[in-house]
Amino acid sequence: ARQSRIRNFSIIAHIDHGKSTLADRILEKTNALAQREMKSQLLDSMDLERERGITIKLNAVQLKYKAKDGEEYTFHLIDTPGHVDFTYEVSRSLAACEGAVLVVDAAQGIEAQTLANVYLALDNNLEIIPVINKIDLPSAEPERVRQEIEDVIGLDASEAVLASAKAGIGIEEILEQVVDLVPAPQGDPDAPLKALIFDSVYDAYRGVVAYIRVFDGTIKPGDKIKMMATGKEFEVIEIGAMTPKVELRDELTVGDVGFLTGAIKNVGDTRVGDTITGAKNSATEALPGYRRLNPMVYCGLYPIDASKFNDLRDALEKLELNDAALQFEAESSQALGFGFRCGFLGLLHMEIVQERIEREFNIDLITTAPSVIYDVILTDGTELKVDNPANMPESQKIERVEEPYVKATMMAPNEFVGTIMELGQKKRGNFVNMEYMDENRVSIVYEIPLSEIVYDFFDQLKSNTRGYASFDYELIGYRPSKLVKMDILLNSETVDALSFIVHTDFSYERGKLIVEKLKKLIPRQQFEVPIQAAIGQKIVARSSISAMRKNVLAKCYGGDISRKRKLLEKQKAGKKRMKQVGSVEVPQEAFMAVLKMD
Ligand code: GDP
Ligand code: MG
Repeated sequence: ARQSRIRNFSIIAHIDHGKSTLADRILEKTNALAQREMKSQLLDSMDLERERGITIKLNAVQLKYKAKDGEEYTFHLIDTPGHVDFTYEVSRSLAACEGAVLVVDAAQGIEAQTLANVYLALDNNLEIIPVINKIDLPSAEPERVRQEIEDVIGLDASEAVLASAKAGIGIEEILEQVVDLVPAPQGDPDAPLKALIFDSVYDAYRGVVAYIRVFDGTIKPGDKIKMMATGKEFEVIEIGAMTPKVELRDELTVGDVGFLTGAIKNVGDTRVGDTITGAKNSATEALPGYRRLNPMVYCGLYPIDASKFNDLRDALEKLELNDAALQFEAESSQALGFGFRCGFLGLLHMEIVQERIEREFNIDLITTAPSVIYDVILTDGTELKVDNPANMPESQKIERVEEPYVKATMMAPNEFVGTIMELGQKKRGNFVNMEYMDENRVSIVYEIPLSEIVYDFFDQLKSNTRGYASFDYELIGYRPSKLVKMDILLNSETVDALSFIVHTDFSYERGKLIVEKLKKLIPRQQFEVPIQAAIGQKIVARSSISAMRKNVLAKCYGGDISRKRKLLEKQKAGKKRMKQVGSVEVPQEAFMAVLKMD
């Protein structure tokens, strides 16, 4: 039967180990098209689709492969997002597969995200096919890496293909292993429909396009379907697959991977991980693993131009159509006026949203420093979730504060053990263990507060190890911490948007640092501006910005108009990101400075 000749798989890898290159090679091989031809075809179909208003995401491609056994197989190659912010999406994409091709760089060996991806694949009971890539590199050590895969991951790597995605070596062997080792989909085409949503995007013309994998039953245009987590019902309008061109189909059945549309207006109605079933002939149980995505990081977004508040609301509402994980609600700040408190999956997610608002909606933003959610237990027993440091209650009212912790895994060559431990210590981490992966490389595990990770942890790790360390983390829960709110006063007024949460052991040091930093970042005003850092009533650090002495233009003596103009333009550009806070002009960087301490 056709079902026995379907193979659904993903490629998983640490970044830069060659996932995209291998995917390109596989597309080339299975479609028997020259690469140039393939690319232009792809683009053609994209342009065409753009005219018709379909958002194309090449996240699940259907391919035909004529195997050595003489049979033709249908492959679905499912792409996974590549960043820790989107771990849940990665795990749902993997849940749509029976197998995973694990690419490991023959020169680099196993890295932190190699392992993280392997765990996700194992959680989803996937058959893992190790591939050792980049064997063409002079520094390649395929046999060492083969041993490492066996020792560190515990996979049998004796049959691992030695490949070069770049040079096109080993591609056919990989495809043959996919045929031989990845199990065919199980499932009953006559049972009630069960299809997993592993991605969804909003399209201006057709509404939401949901990417699905059918586990049981069959789905056709005209079917009435129900989303099991949200209970919402829709009628299917179109069904199809990407080959990688968009091709409409009459049905998708057990093992098939493709997309559906159905006049669905909001991606919140087709949540990643939800199960689609028939509205009438419903499955009794959903597929396992559905989770509502909860934001991990919050920050305030404020329009620099206060009159753009409603535009900002419109922008967020539009983005929300396409982003089920984005959360926002209106808030106001004494310092910044009216804006929105927004919740994100992580920092990358936050940056993407900020950038889209500025670029696509043309709204200049002031963003406050990202914050995690603190669990605050008050002396009267009530519990609060605090996602904005400004809302932290007075310390006298607090029984205890708990903060989210992550388990952070860092891998690097031996020589960086000291550096990594120092960073772990500095970031309030608890050392858990250290293991040698081979004689040259170690894996170090710390438990670290998420708040210490969200800002520049990764940047620091990279720069302190000259780029050699890799890093991954997962949330492990809340732990009590001795945390207090630090307020910043400019010109003797508290600036609520600059408040931050700090561990008591670091509070004096941080207070001093932040005051010095703000002194550098805030331009001189017409008058002297005192800066203070305070915990409650207690001032822990102080400094001041001295008054502006002379007119900047006075520097350009004489009639050098163009230079004057340049200076004025520079000032204007610099002004763009300024916010008037009371009597003081504060630049954007100041709001982020509280977390960037080095
Ligand atoms: P991804 O981040 O895992 O998707 O990695 P890419 O496929 O983007 O590859 C990262 C870099 O490694 C690119 O510069 C590729 O050209 C290069 N690369 C990929 N495969 C090979 C290979 O087999 N040999 C060599 N020498 N370079 C490769
Ligand atoms: Mg890539």
